[in-house]
Amino acid sequence: MGEPGVAKIIFVYELCKTPDQLQELLRKAGLLKKDLTCAKCNSPMKLRSKDINDGAVWTCRNRINKKECGLQKSVRFGSWFCCSKLTMGEIFF
Ligand SMILES: [Zn+2]
Repeated sequence: MGEPGVAKIIFVYELCKTPDQLQELLRKAGLLKKDLTCAKCNSPMKLRSKDINDGAVWTCRNRINKKECGLQKSVRFGSWFCCSKLTMGEIFF
């Protein structure tokens, strides 16, 4: 076996390659909000996986007057990630 901690680093690295799993882990750890309410129309927002550094974005799919609200918030919003300029993956290193 290698140095202590190497296995942990590899584990985190693997998680960072799969944003969905990383988010699940963060959610369980209470670091990521389970749900978010739209600031514009007060409807529950949906977490959508996106091919961006953060891995996902909260989107409001509520329709007001046949028009989608479409308000978006980074997963950093309302979590401790808002204090960091780092991506989720970078925080662990
Ligand atoms: Zn909305």
